[in-house]
Amino acid sequence: MSKKIILTGSFGVGKTSLFNRFIYNQFNEKYMTTIGVKVNKKNVMAHGHEVTLLVWDIAGEVTQDKVPASYFLGTSGIIYVIDLSRTSTFQNVATDIKYLKQIQPKATIYIVGNKRDLIPTEEALNAILEQIPVTVQVITSAQTGDNVEQLFTALTEAMTQPN
Ligand code: GDP
Ligand code: MG
Repeated sequence: MSKKIILTGSFGVGKTSLFNRFIYNQFNEKYMTTIGVKVNKKNVMAHGHEVTLLVWDIAGEVTQDKVPASYFLGTSGIIYVIDLSRTSTFQNVATDIKYLKQIQPKATIYIVGNKRDLIPTEEALNAILEQIPVTVQVITSAQTGDNVEQLFTALTEAMTQPN
């Protein structure tokens, strides 16, 4: 079984870094603009079955107009990334999620708060989460690798829920 997952969210939130951490277990401090789309695959186990994830890292700042809706065709999972250290990256989350649900109603959407390593305390983290108008399901750090594997595994389990 294979499933397509797309990483989306504002500019510089860490989409490419999460992709590189998950696929290659690597992290790069330097910022390199993503051009077009990069796709790679990795197998994960979900509900006792091996699932091949096709992960799409797209150059998509703003979901509505910069990313062609056709990219989302056949997508089972969407990872919407927020940068916990920059409030500007959660300004559009509510409208973006509404739009994504509209164009891909069957996809499982995970909202992820990345760059956990830049937030000094649990209190600071909670204060940030309170400002975000949607529920953040997973908190990650692409830098340390914290929760990255778990993010993809949990999403795959949710996407392949036997019913
Ligand atoms: P994208 O535009 O969403 O693909 O963002 P990138 O993955 O290119 O990351 C943008 C910048 O944030 C780069 O300089 C990364 O090194 C940095 N970055 C990404 N994830 C993390 C993280 O979890 N922690 C920290 N401290 N920096 C990160
Ligand atoms: Mg990128």
